[in-house]
Amino acid sequence: MLLKDRVAIITGGAGINGLGFATARQMAAQGARVAILDLERADPAGAAARLGDGHLGLVADVTDKPSCEAAAAAVLRAFGRIDALVNNAGITQAVGTLEIGGADYDRVLDVSLRGTLYMSQAVLPSMRRQQAGAIVCISSVSAQRGGGIFGGPHYSAAKAGVLGLARAMAREFGGDGIRINCVTPGLIETDITQGKLGPERKREISATIPLARLGRADDVAGACVFLASDLAGYCTGITLDVNGGMLIH
Ligand code: NAD
Repeated sequence: MLLKDRVAIITGGAGINGLGFATARQMAAQGARVAILDLERADPAGAAARLGDGHLGLVADVTDKPSCEAAAAAVLRAFGRIDALVNNAGITQAVGTLEIGGADYDRVLDVSLRGTLYMSQAVLPSMRRQQAGAIVCISSVSAQRGGGIFGGPHYSAAKAGVLGLARAMAREFGGDGIRINCVTPGLIETDITQGKLGPERKREISATIPLARLGRADDVAGACVFLASDLAGYCTGITLDVNGGMLIH
């Protein structure tokens, strides 16, 4: 087992069809004790219960620093350590540049970018004490190609910000044995995409992808398991594309 007795936190992990829950499931299957953090309405405790015994679900809003700190403290109380964090919480909004209002900008950047900073800040002190840890930040192909299929420019900016933040933190904390990496998913079928793509549009998009299909949540989860595990022991500051070849250039 790749994560035996490791403790992993996954933000935005309660959506049963989402990338976060798929990651939680795979990490639990690899022996990790998992803490799922999410908004109250997403029922993180219910999601954690689906993983079986010995996991934790906590209500936490990643845009709120005290909430992130309280969640990290609760995980430390329950499990005694934090080995991995997956910064997965994110929201999108499909509008063009001229339609982005100030409140839209704040909402979209706050969850992906501020949330990644606040949760990382909440776990880094304990990882530093351990002189070990792995943080995986979920960015997006949208950051690399200037828009995915659903996200507006503010979403691309938020996810590009995540790439820069992760690389800077990787540089700063490498000496403490803490690895910080990004995953850039392509178009993955989750609740974000459900109902928004008809079969014809799916076929059109698949035709542009070398692996000829949309992604599955488990495709991204596998990359997160790899980056959190010792298999990735010499990887830090990297961006791992999980997009079926959508961005080969
Ligand atoms: P999802 O909507 O299923 O998951 C997002 C989760 O974040 C939800 O459970 C939601 O409740 C939670 N969340 C929202 N605001 C939060 C907050 N303030 N604090 C804590 N949790 C919060 O969508 P998903 O497709 O599984 O997306 C997961 C991540 O992957 C996101 O960061 C998304 O931007 C990114 N991503 C998705 C795709 C895709 O095609 N699905 C592609 C690239 C990147």
